[in-house]
Amino acid sequence: MVGKRVRTRFAPSPTGYLHVGGLRTALYNYLFAKKMDGDFIVRIEDTDQSRKVADAQENLIKTLEWAGLVPDESPVHGGDFGPYLQSERLDIYKKYCEQLLEEGYAYHCFATSEELEENRQLQIKQGLQPKYNRKWLPEEMGGSMPRCEIQKKIDEGAPSVVRMKVPDYVSVWFEDVIRGPIEFDSATIDDQVLMKSDGFPTYHFASVIDDHLMEFTHIIRGEEWLPSMPKHLLLYEFLGWEPPKYAHLPLLLNPDRSKLSKRQGDVSVEDYIRKGYSSEAIVNFVALLGWNQGEGCEQEVYSLQELTEKFSLERVGKAGSIFTIDKLNWLEKQYIKSRPAEDIIRVIRPLLISELEKKETLLDRPTITGDRYLEDVIELMRERVGFEHEFVTFSSYFFFEPEEYEEAAVQKRWTPDTKSLLSEFLPVLESMPDFTAEAIEAALKEFVAPKGLKAAALIHPLRIVSSGVSFGPSLYHMLEVLGREAVVRRIQKGMAIITVPQQ
Ligand code: GLU
Repeated sequence: MVGKRVRTRFAPSPTGYLHVGGLRTALYNYLFAKKMDGDFIVRIEDTDQSRKVADAQENLIKTLEWAGLVPDESPVHGGDFGPYLQSERLDIYKKYCEQLLEEGYAYHCFATSEELEENRQLQIKQGLQPKYNRKWLPEEMGGSMPRCEIQKKIDEGAPSVVRMKVPDYVSVWFEDVIRGPIEFDSATIDDQVLMKSDGFPTYHFASVIDDHLMEFTHIIRGEEWLPSMPKHLLLYEFLGWEPPKYAHLPLLLNPDRSKLSKRQGDVSVEDYIRKGYSSEAIVNFVALLGWNQGEGCEQEVYSLQELTEKFSLERVGKAGSIFTIDKLNWLEKQYIKSRPAEDIIRVIRPLLISELEKKETLLDRPTITGDRYLEDVIELMRERVGFEHEFVTFSSYFFFEPEEYEEAAVQKRWTPDTKSLLSEFLPVLESMPDFTAEAIEAALKEFVAPKGLKAAALIHPLRIVSSGVSFGPSLYHMLEVLGREAVVRRIQKGMAIITVPQQ
Protein backbone atom coordinates (compact mmCIF):
# COMPACT_ATOMS: atom_id res chain seq x y z
CA MET A 1 0.00 0.00 0.00
CA VAL A 2 3.06 2.26 0.21
CA GLY A 3 2.72 5.32 -1.97
CA LYS A 4 -0.90 4.60 -2.90
CA ARG A 5 -3.21 7.61 -3.17
CA VAL A 6 -5.36 7.76 -0.05
CA ARG A 7 -9.01 7.01 -0.75
CA THR A 8 -11.69 6.95 1.93
CA ARG A 9 -15.41 6.43 1.74
CA PHE A 10 -18.62 7.20 3.51
CA ALA A 11 -21.02 4.36 2.77
CA PRO A 12 -24.45 5.15 4.17
CA SER A 13 -27.62 3.21 3.60
CA PRO A 14 -30.24 5.47 2.06
CA THR A 15 -32.56 5.77 5.04
CA GLY A 16 -33.84 9.20 4.12
CA TYR A 17 -31.85 11.35 6.49
CA LEU A 18 -28.28 11.83 7.67
CA HIS A 19 -27.68 10.74 11.26
CA VAL A 20 -25.31 12.98 13.24
CA GLY A 21 -23.15 9.90 13.80
CA GLY A 22 -23.10 9.46 10.02
CA LEU A 23 -22.02 13.06 9.60
CA ARG A 24 -19.15 12.46 12.01
CA THR A 25 -18.09 9.34 10.09
CA ALA A 26 -18.28 11.26 6.83
CA LEU A 27 -16.35 14.17 8.33
CA TYR A 28 -13.51 12.04 9.66
CA ASN A 29 -13.26 10.25 6.31
CA TYR A 30 -13.23 13.60 4.55
CA LEU A 31 -10.67 15.18 6.91
CA PHE A 32 -8.33 12.23 6.74
CA ALA A 33 -8.49 12.03 2.95
CA LYS A 34 -8.01 15.76 2.46
CA LYS A 35 -5.16 15.94 4.93
CA MET A 36 -3.40 13.22 2.96
CA ASP A 37 -4.23 14.91 -0.38
CA GLY A 38 -6.48 12.00 -1.19
CA ASP A 39 -10.06 11.44 -2.29
CA PHE A 40 -13.29 11.26 -0.35
CA ILE A 41 -15.98 9.13 -1.93
CA VAL A 42 -19.65 8.51 -1.17
CA ARG A 43 -21.02 5.07 -1.95
CA ILE A 44 -24.67 4.31 -1.30
CA GLU A 45 -25.36 0.92 0.24
CA ASP A 46 -28.87 0.21 -0.97
CA THR A 47 -28.86 -3.56 -0.98
CA ASP A 48 -31.69 -3.79 1.49
CA GLN A 49 -34.57 -3.25 -0.89
CA SER A 50 -37.15 -3.22 1.88
CA ARG A 51 -35.56 -0.13 3.45
CA LYS A 52 -35.26 1.94 0.29
CA VAL A 53 -36.43 5.56 0.50
CA ALA A 54 -37.06 7.73 -2.56
CA ASP A 55 -34.57 10.57 -3.20
CA ALA A 56 -32.60 9.46 -0.15
CA GLN A 57 -29.20 9.58 -1.81
CA GLU A 58 -29.71 13.02 -3.32
CA ASN A 59 -30.79 14.35 0.09
CA LEU A 60 -27.86 12.72 1.81
CA ILE A 61 -25.36 14.17 -0.59
CA LYS A 62 -27.05 17.58 -0.41
CA THR A 63 -26.69 17.54 3.38
CA LEU A 64 -23.02 16.53 3.12
CA GLU A 65 -22.42 19.35 0.69
CA TRP A 66 -24.22 21.77 3.01
CA ALA A 67 -21.66 20.75 5.63
CA GLY A 68 -18.86 21.45 3.14
CA LEU A 69 -18.00 17.79 2.61
CA VAL A 70 -18.09 17.68 -1.16
CA PRO A 71 -17.32 14.18 -2.40
CA ASP A 72 -14.76 13.66 -5.14
CA GLU A 73 -16.83 10.74 -6.41
CA SER A 74 -20.44 9.73 -5.67
CA PRO A 75 -23.62 8.59 -7.45
CA VAL A 76 -24.29 12.27 -8.11
CA HIS A 77 -20.76 13.39 -8.96
CA GLY A 78 -19.73 10.26 -10.91
CA GLY A 79 -16.13 9.04 -11.00
CA ASP A 80 -13.88 6.32 -12.42
CA PHE A 81 -14.87 3.63 -9.93
CA GLY A 82 -18.65 3.63 -10.35
CA PRO A 83 -21.41 2.79 -10.24
CA TYR A 84 -21.53 4.14 -6.70
CA LEU A 85 -24.97 2.70 -5.98
CA GLN A 86 -24.72 -0.90 -4.88
CA SER A 87 -28.02 -1.82 -6.51
CA GLU A 88 -26.34 -1.05 -9.85
CA ARG A 89 -23.45 -3.43 -9.17
CA LEU A 90 -25.34 -6.71 -8.88
CA ASP A 91 -23.43 -8.39 -11.74
CA ILE A 92 -20.17 -7.70 -9.97
CA TYR A 93 -21.32 -9.36 -6.74
CA LYS A 94 -22.72 -12.29 -8.70
CA LYS A 95 -19.39 -12.87 -10.39
CA TYR A 96 -17.46 -12.98 -7.11
CA CYS A 97 -20.13 -15.11 -5.50
CA GLU A 98 -19.71 -17.68 -8.25
CA GLN A 99 -15.97 -17.58 -7.78
CA LEU A 100 -16.32 -18.30 -4.05
CA LEU A 101 -18.80 -21.12 -4.73
CA GLU A 102 -16.46 -22.67 -7.29
CA GLU A 103 -13.43 -22.43 -5.05
CA GLY A 104 -15.19 -23.98 -2.07
CA TYR A 105 -15.38 -20.89 0.12
CA ALA A 106 -19.15 -20.60 -0.08
CA TYR A 107 -22.19 -22.85 -0.42
CA HIS A 108 -25.89 -22.74 -1.19
CA CYS A 109 -28.26 -22.97 1.73
CA PHE A 110 -31.93 -23.86 1.22
CA ALA A 111 -33.03 -23.62 4.85
CA THR A 112 -36.37 -21.88 5.28
CA SER A 113 -36.77 -19.05 7.76
CA GLU A 114 -38.94 -21.34 9.94
CA GLU A 115 -36.19 -23.94 10.04
CA LEU A 116 -33.60 -21.32 10.91
CA GLU A 117 -35.76 -19.96 13.70
CA GLU A 118 -36.41 -23.45 15.09
CA ASN A 119 -32.69 -24.12 15.08
CA ARG A 120 -32.01 -20.81 16.80
CA GLN A 121 -34.50 -21.51 19.58
CA LEU A 122 -33.05 -24.94 20.12
CA GLN A 123 -29.51 -23.59 20.44
CA ILE A 124 -30.66 -20.89 22.85
CA LYS A 125 -32.37 -23.58 24.94
CA GLN A 126 -29.12 -25.55 24.96
CA GLY A 127 -27.28 -22.45 26.14
CA LEU A 128 -25.36 -22.17 22.86
CA GLN A 129 -24.65 -19.05 20.87
CA PRO A 130 -27.11 -19.26 17.93
CA LYS A 131 -25.38 -20.08 14.66
CA TYR A 132 -26.41 -21.67 11.40
CA ASN A 133 -26.26 -25.47 11.89
CA ARG A 134 -24.62 -26.10 8.51
CA LYS A 135 -27.29 -28.51 7.38
CA TRP A 136 -26.61 -27.59 3.75
CA LEU A 137 -22.83 -27.60 3.97
CA PRO A 138 -21.78 -29.97 1.15
CA GLU A 139 -19.95 -33.20 1.90
CA GLU A 140 -16.91 -32.13 -0.09
CA MET A 141 -16.59 -29.04 2.14
CA GLY A 142 -16.68 -31.06 5.36
CA GLY A 143 -20.47 -31.08 5.78
CA SER A 144 -23.05 -33.81 5.45
CA MET A 145 -25.18 -32.77 2.47
CA PRO A 146 -24.58 -34.89 -0.64
CA ARG A 147 -23.83 -32.90 -3.79
CA CYS A 148 -26.73 -34.55 -5.65
CA GLU A 149 -29.25 -33.22 -3.11
CA ILE A 150 -27.91 -29.73 -3.54
CA GLN A 151 -27.95 -30.04 -7.33
CA LYS A 152 -31.54 -31.27 -7.21
CA LYS A 153 -32.63 -28.16 -5.31
CA ILE A 154 -30.70 -25.89 -7.67
CA ASP A 155 -32.32 -27.56 -10.68
CA GLU A 156 -35.76 -27.16 -9.11
CA GLY A 157 -35.05 -23.46 -8.74
CA ALA A 158 -35.70 -23.63 -4.98
CA PRO A 159 -35.04 -20.33 -3.20
CA SER A 160 -31.63 -20.26 -1.58
CA VAL A 161 -29.02 -18.02 -0.09
CA VAL A 162 -25.25 -18.33 -0.43
CA ARG A 163 -23.26 -18.58 2.78
CA MET A 164 -19.54 -18.24 3.37
CA LYS A 165 -17.86 -21.22 4.98
CA VAL A 166 -16.03 -19.92 8.01
CA PRO A 167 -12.99 -22.08 8.79
CA ASP A 168 -13.43 -23.97 12.05
CA TYR A 169 -10.43 -23.15 14.14
CA VAL A 170 -8.51 -20.11 13.02
CA SER A 171 -7.92 -16.85 14.67
CA VAL A 172 -8.47 -13.69 12.69
CA TRP A 173 -6.31 -10.75 13.58
CA PHE A 174 -5.98 -7.16 12.48
CA GLU A 175 -4.57 -3.89 13.75
CA ASP A 176 -7.13 -1.12 14.16
CA VAL A 177 -5.65 2.36 13.67
CA ILE A 178 -7.51 3.63 16.75
CA ARG A 179 -7.76 0.51 18.90
CA GLY A 180 -4.56 -1.38 18.17
CA PRO A 181 -4.39 -5.16 17.59
CA ILE A 182 -7.66 -7.09 17.82
CA GLU A 183 -8.08 -10.85 17.55
CA PHE A 184 -11.19 -12.95 16.91
CA ASP A 185 -11.72 -16.67 17.21
CA SER A 186 -13.39 -18.17 14.13
CA ALA A 187 -15.41 -20.54 16.32
CA THR A 188 -17.61 -17.59 17.29
CA ILE A 189 -18.34 -16.58 13.70
CA ASP A 190 -21.47 -17.64 11.89
CA ASP A 191 -21.50 -18.83 8.26
CA GLN A 192 -22.56 -15.41 7.08
CA VAL A 193 -25.04 -15.06 4.24
CA LEU A 194 -23.33 -13.42 1.27
CA MET A 195 -26.12 -13.49 -1.29
CA LYS A 196 -29.76 -13.25 -0.35
CA SER A 197 -32.53 -15.15 -2.11
CA ASP A 198 -33.62 -11.95 -3.92
CA GLY A 199 -30.27 -11.90 -5.74
CA PHE A 200 -28.99 -8.97 -3.68
CA PRO A 201 -25.77 -9.25 -1.73
CA THR A 202 -25.64 -8.69 2.02
CA TYR A 203 -23.89 -5.63 3.37
CA HIS A 204 -20.85 -7.69 4.37
CA PHE A 205 -20.26 -9.16 0.93
CA ALA A 206 -20.99 -6.05 -1.09
CA SER A 207 -18.95 -3.75 1.08
CA VAL A 208 -15.83 -5.95 0.97
CA ILE A 209 -16.02 -6.27 -2.81
CA ASP A 210 -16.63 -2.58 -3.33
CA ASP A 211 -14.02 -1.46 -0.82
CA HIS A 212 -11.48 -3.49 -2.78
CA LEU A 213 -12.59 -2.62 -6.31
CA MET A 214 -12.95 1.07 -5.46
CA GLU A 215 -9.38 0.93 -4.10
CA PHE A 216 -10.06 2.35 -0.68
CA THR A 217 -6.93 2.56 1.43
CA HIS A 218 -8.63 3.32 4.76
CA ILE A 219 -12.01 2.27 6.11
CA ILE A 220 -13.13 4.67 8.83
CA ARG A 221 -16.48 3.72 10.33
CA GLY A 222 -18.46 3.36 13.54
CA GLU A 223 -17.56 0.96 16.32
CA GLU A 224 -20.75 -1.00 15.67
CA TRP A 225 -19.02 -2.57 12.66
CA LEU A 226 -16.12 -3.95 14.66
CA PRO A 227 -17.78 -7.36 15.24
CA SER A 228 -18.07 -7.72 11.43
CA MET A 229 -14.32 -7.53 10.98
CA PRO A 230 -13.57 -11.29 11.05
CA LYS A 231 -16.13 -11.94 8.31
CA HIS A 232 -14.71 -9.14 6.21
CA LEU A 233 -11.10 -10.21 6.74
CA LEU A 234 -11.93 -13.82 5.84
CA LEU A 235 -13.58 -12.64 2.65
CA TYR A 236 -10.44 -10.71 1.72
CA GLU A 237 -8.46 -13.86 2.31
CA PHE A 238 -10.84 -16.02 0.23
CA LEU A 239 -10.68 -13.54 -2.61
CA GLY A 240 -6.91 -13.21 -2.41
CA TRP A 241 -7.03 -9.47 -1.74
CA GLU A 242 -5.06 -7.29 0.64
CA PRO A 243 -7.39 -5.59 3.15
CA PRO A 244 -7.27 -1.83 3.63
CA LYS A 245 -6.45 -0.22 6.97
CA TYR A 246 -9.33 0.03 9.43
CA ALA A 247 -10.26 2.62 12.04
CA HIS A 248 -13.39 2.11 14.15
CA LEU A 249 -14.77 5.30 15.68
CA PRO A 250 -16.14 5.49 19.24
CA LEU A 251 -19.88 5.37 19.82
CA LEU A 252 -21.90 8.54 20.24
CA LEU A 253 -23.68 8.61 23.58
CA ASN A 254 -26.56 10.45 25.20
CA PRO A 255 -25.62 12.40 28.33
CA ASP A 256 -26.76 9.40 30.40
CA ARG A 257 -24.16 7.32 28.47
CA SER A 258 -26.77 5.29 26.60
CA LYS A 259 -26.30 4.97 22.84
CA LEU A 260 -27.38 8.17 21.06
CA SER A 261 -30.99 7.72 20.16
CA LYS A 262 -33.97 9.59 18.83
CA ARG A 263 -35.71 9.16 22.15
CA GLN A 264 -33.42 11.66 23.86
CA GLY A 265 -33.28 14.32 21.18
CA ASP A 266 -32.81 14.94 17.50
CA VAL A 267 -30.39 12.69 15.68
CA SER A 268 -30.81 13.78 12.10
CA VAL A 269 -28.63 16.55 10.74
CA GLU A 270 -31.63 17.86 8.84
CA ASP A 271 -33.43 18.47 12.16
CA TYR A 272 -30.55 20.66 13.29
CA ILE A 273 -30.50 22.52 9.99
CA ARG A 274 -34.23 23.18 10.33
CA LYS A 275 -33.66 24.56 13.81
CA GLY A 276 -31.23 27.06 12.39
CA TYR A 277 -27.83 25.66 13.31
CA SER A 278 -25.08 26.64 10.91
CA SER A 279 -22.87 24.20 9.06
CA GLU A 280 -19.76 25.67 10.75
CA ALA A 281 -21.10 24.97 14.25
CA ILE A 282 -22.37 21.49 13.43
CA VAL A 283 -19.18 20.43 11.69
CA ASN A 284 -17.07 21.86 14.50
CA PHE A 285 -19.27 20.11 17.03
CA VAL A 286 -19.19 16.66 15.46
CA ALA A 287 -15.44 16.97 14.84
CA LEU A 288 -14.97 17.19 18.61
CA LEU A 289 -17.11 14.11 19.27
CA GLY A 290 -14.20 11.73 19.48
CA TRP A 291 -11.24 13.78 18.30
CA ASN A 292 -9.10 16.32 20.11
CA GLN A 293 -5.99 18.11 19.04
CA GLY A 294 -3.94 17.02 22.02
CA GLU A 295 -3.46 17.20 25.75
CA GLY A 296 -3.55 20.73 27.07
CA CYS A 297 -4.91 22.23 23.86
CA GLU A 298 -7.68 24.63 24.78
CA GLN A 299 -8.88 25.42 21.26
CA GLU A 300 -12.50 24.49 20.63
CA VAL A 301 -13.50 26.56 17.64
CA TYR A 302 -12.17 25.12 14.38
CA SER A 303 -13.02 25.89 10.79
CA LEU A 304 -13.25 23.00 8.32
CA GLN A 305 -9.95 24.15 6.83
CA GLU A 306 -8.25 24.11 10.23
CA LEU A 307 -9.69 20.70 11.00
CA THR A 308 -8.32 19.41 7.73
CA GLU A 309 -4.86 20.60 8.71
CA LYS A 310 -4.96 19.35 12.29
CA PHE A 311 -6.97 16.13 12.15
CA SER A 312 -5.30 12.81 12.76
CA LEU A 313 -6.75 9.35 13.37
CA GLU A 314 -4.22 8.83 16.15
CA ARG A 315 -5.97 11.51 18.18
CA VAL A 316 -9.38 9.85 17.94
CA GLY A 317 -10.27 8.28 21.29
CA LYS A 318 -11.61 4.82 21.98
CA ALA A 319 -14.17 5.80 24.63
CA GLY A 320 -17.71 6.81 23.66
CA SER A 321 -18.29 10.52 23.10
CA ILE A 322 -21.15 12.31 24.78
CA PHE A 323 -23.42 14.40 22.62
CA THR A 324 -24.05 17.58 24.61
CA ILE A 325 -26.44 20.02 23.02
CA ASP A 326 -25.12 22.84 25.24
CA LYS A 327 -21.76 22.54 23.54
CA LEU A 328 -23.38 22.80 20.13
CA ASN A 329 -25.37 25.86 21.25
CA TRP A 330 -22.22 27.43 22.64
CA LEU A 331 -20.39 26.86 19.37
CA GLU A 332 -23.28 28.33 17.39
CA LYS A 333 -23.04 31.47 19.53
CA GLN A 334 -19.29 31.69 18.96
CA TYR A 335 -19.86 31.59 15.21
CA ILE A 336 -22.58 34.20 15.33
CA LYS A 337 -20.31 36.51 17.31
CA SER A 338 -17.58 36.39 14.72
CA ARG A 339 -19.47 35.91 11.45
CA PRO A 340 -19.19 38.90 9.08
CA ALA A 341 -22.42 40.92 8.99
CA GLU A 342 -22.70 40.48 5.23
CA ASP A 343 -22.85 36.69 5.64
CA ILE A 344 -25.58 37.00 8.25
CA ILE A 345 -27.48 39.46 6.07
CA ARG A 346 -27.44 36.93 3.24
CA VAL A 347 -29.35 34.53 5.51
CA ILE A 348 -31.67 36.89 7.35
CA ARG A 349 -32.78 39.24 4.56
CA PRO A 350 -34.86 36.56 2.78
CA LEU A 351 -36.37 35.60 6.15
CA LEU A 352 -37.24 39.20 6.86
CA ILE A 353 -38.73 39.71 3.43
CA SER A 354 -40.94 36.68 3.88
CA GLU A 355 -42.03 37.98 7.31
CA LEU A 356 -42.83 41.33 5.74
CA GLU A 357 -45.03 39.59 3.21
CA LYS A 358 -47.09 38.15 6.03
CA LYS A 359 -47.22 41.18 8.28
CA GLU A 360 -47.62 44.94 7.85
CA THR A 361 -44.96 47.28 9.15
CA LEU A 362 -45.08 51.00 9.81
CA LEU A 363 -41.34 51.25 9.21
CA ASP A 364 -39.86 52.07 5.85
CA ARG A 365 -39.39 48.72 4.08
CA PRO A 366 -36.43 49.68 1.86
CA THR A 367 -34.65 51.06 4.95
CA ILE A 368 -35.20 48.08 7.23
CA THR A 369 -34.25 45.55 4.57
CA GLY A 370 -31.19 47.57 3.54
CA ASP A 371 -27.60 46.68 4.44
CA ARG A 372 -27.04 49.66 6.69
CA TYR A 373 -30.03 49.00 8.96
CA LEU A 374 -29.45 45.23 9.11
CA GLU A 375 -25.78 45.76 9.94
CA ASP A 376 -26.79 47.97 12.86
CA VAL A 377 -29.31 45.42 14.13
CA ILE A 378 -26.72 42.63 13.83
CA GLU A 379 -24.08 44.57 15.75
CA LEU A 380 -26.57 45.31 18.55
CA MET A 381 -27.92 41.78 18.75
CA ARG A 382 -25.06 39.41 17.93
CA GLU A 383 -24.20 38.82 21.59
CA ARG A 384 -27.81 38.07 22.37
CA VAL A 385 -29.08 35.63 19.78
CA GLY A 386 -28.51 31.90 19.61
CA PHE A 387 -29.36 31.44 15.93
CA GLU A 388 -29.20 33.60 12.85
CA HIS A 389 -32.97 33.52 12.33
CA GLU A 390 -33.33 35.13 15.78
CA PHE A 391 -31.98 38.39 14.37
CA VAL A 392 -35.44 38.60 12.81
CA THR A 393 -37.62 36.73 15.31
CA PHE A 394 -36.02 37.50 18.67
CA SER A 395 -35.81 41.25 18.16
CA SER A 396 -38.76 41.64 15.82
CA TYR A 397 -39.35 45.17 17.18
CA PHE A 398 -36.60 46.34 14.84
CA PHE A 399 -38.95 45.48 12.00
CA PHE A 400 -42.48 45.60 13.38
CA GLU A 401 -44.35 47.75 15.88
CA PRO A 402 -44.71 46.06 19.26
CA GLU A 403 -48.24 44.70 19.45
CA GLU A 404 -48.28 44.10 23.14
CA TYR A 405 -46.25 45.05 26.18
CA GLU A 406 -44.66 42.56 28.54
CA GLU A 407 -47.02 42.48 31.49
CA ALA A 408 -44.46 41.90 34.23
CA ALA A 409 -42.37 44.79 32.95
CA VAL A 410 -45.34 47.13 32.95
CA GLN A 411 -46.26 46.01 36.46
CA LYS A 412 -42.78 46.75 37.67
CA ARG A 413 -41.79 49.83 35.70
CA TRP A 414 -44.93 51.83 34.87
CA THR A 415 -45.73 54.25 37.66
CA PRO A 416 -48.43 56.93 37.94
CA ASP A 417 -45.79 59.48 36.81
CA THR A 418 -44.53 57.62 33.77
CA LYS A 419 -47.02 58.98 31.28
CA SER A 420 -46.45 62.62 32.16
CA LEU A 421 -42.67 62.08 32.20
CA LEU A 422 -42.81 60.59 28.72
CA SER A 423 -45.02 63.30 27.34
CA GLU A 424 -42.66 65.92 28.75
CA PHE A 425 -39.62 64.12 27.30
CA LEU A 426 -41.18 63.62 23.89
CA PRO A 427 -40.57 67.19 22.63
CA VAL A 428 -36.93 66.85 23.76
CA LEU A 429 -36.51 63.87 21.47
CA GLU A 430 -38.40 65.56 18.67
CA SER A 431 -36.23 68.65 18.74
CA MET A 432 -32.78 67.12 19.23
CA PRO A 433 -30.52 68.09 16.34
CA ASP A 434 -28.90 64.63 16.07
CA PHE A 435 -30.83 61.52 16.99
CA THR A 436 -27.77 59.55 18.09
CA ALA A 437 -27.23 57.22 21.04
CA GLU A 438 -24.85 59.69 22.72
CA ALA A 439 -27.19 62.64 22.23
CA ILE A 440 -30.22 60.68 23.50
CA GLU A 441 -28.29 59.54 26.57
CA ALA A 442 -27.10 63.07 27.35
CA ALA A 443 -30.57 64.53 26.85
CA LEU A 444 -32.20 61.89 29.05
CA LYS A 445 -29.76 62.45 31.88
CA GLU A 446 -30.13 66.20 31.63
CA PHE A 447 -33.91 65.79 31.69
CA VAL A 448 -34.14 63.61 34.82
CA ALA A 449 -31.42 65.27 36.94
CA PRO A 450 -33.29 68.47 37.92
CA LYS A 451 -36.30 66.37 38.85
CA GLY A 452 -34.21 64.38 41.31
CA LEU A 453 -35.00 61.20 39.37
CA LYS A 454 -32.74 58.38 38.27
CA ALA A 455 -32.27 57.69 34.57
CA ALA A 456 -34.04 54.36 35.14
CA ALA A 457 -37.32 56.20 35.64
CA LEU A 458 -37.32 56.89 31.88
CA ILE A 459 -35.06 54.16 30.55
CA HIS A 460 -37.42 51.31 31.44
CA PRO A 461 -40.63 52.89 30.16
CA LEU A 462 -38.84 53.94 26.97
CA ARG A 463 -37.70 50.40 26.42
CA ILE A 464 -41.18 49.00 27.05
CA VAL A 465 -42.92 51.34 24.61
CA SER A 466 -40.35 51.01 21.87
CA SER A 467 -39.70 47.24 22.05
CA GLY A 468 -42.60 45.79 24.03
CA VAL A 469 -40.16 43.86 26.24
CA SER A 470 -37.97 44.51 29.24
CA PHE A 471 -34.68 43.26 27.89
CA GLY A 472 -32.50 43.97 24.89
CA PRO A 473 -29.42 45.79 23.75
CA SER A 474 -28.32 49.25 24.93
CA LEU A 475 -31.49 51.36 24.95
CA TYR A 476 -29.83 54.45 23.49
CA HIS A 477 -28.37 52.51 20.57
CA MET A 478 -31.65 50.72 20.01
CA LEU A 479 -33.49 54.05 19.79
CA GLU A 480 -30.91 55.43 17.39
CA VAL A 481 -31.30 52.43 15.08
CA LEU A 482 -35.10 52.58 15.20
CA GLY A 483 -34.94 56.26 14.27
CA ARG A 484 -36.70 59.31 15.61
CA GLU A 485 -39.94 58.87 13.72
CA ALA A 486 -40.54 55.32 14.93
CA VAL A 487 -39.53 56.13 18.49
CA VAL A 488 -41.86 59.13 18.73
CA ARG A 489 -44.71 57.10 17.24
CA ARG A 490 -44.12 54.22 19.64
CA ILE A 491 -43.96 56.50 22.68
CA GLN A 492 -47.30 58.04 21.68
CA LYS A 493 -48.85 54.66 21.14
CA GLY A 494 -47.54 53.32 24.45
CA MET A 495 -48.83 56.31 26.35
CA ALA A 496 -52.24 55.83 24.78
CA ILE A 497 -52.47 52.12 25.49
CA ILE A 498 -50.60 51.38 28.69
CA THR A 499 -52.44 52.06 31.88
CA VAL A 500 -51.08 52.26 35.39
CA PRO A 501 -51.20 48.77 36.82
CA GLN A 502 -53.51 48.10 39.76
CA GLN A 503 -51.49 47.46 42.90
N1 GLU B 1 -23.88 0.91 5.17
C1 GLU B 1 -23.18 0.84 6.42
C2 GLU B 1 -23.86 1.84 7.34
O1 GLU B 1 -24.97 2.14 7.14
C3 GLU B 1 -21.71 1.13 6.20
C4 GLU B 1 -20.78 0.50 7.17
C5 GLU B 1 -19.34 0.64 6.70
O2 GLU B 1 -18.87 1.78 6.67
O3 GLU B 1 -18.74 -0.36 6.33
O4 GLU B 1 -23.35 2.35 8.27
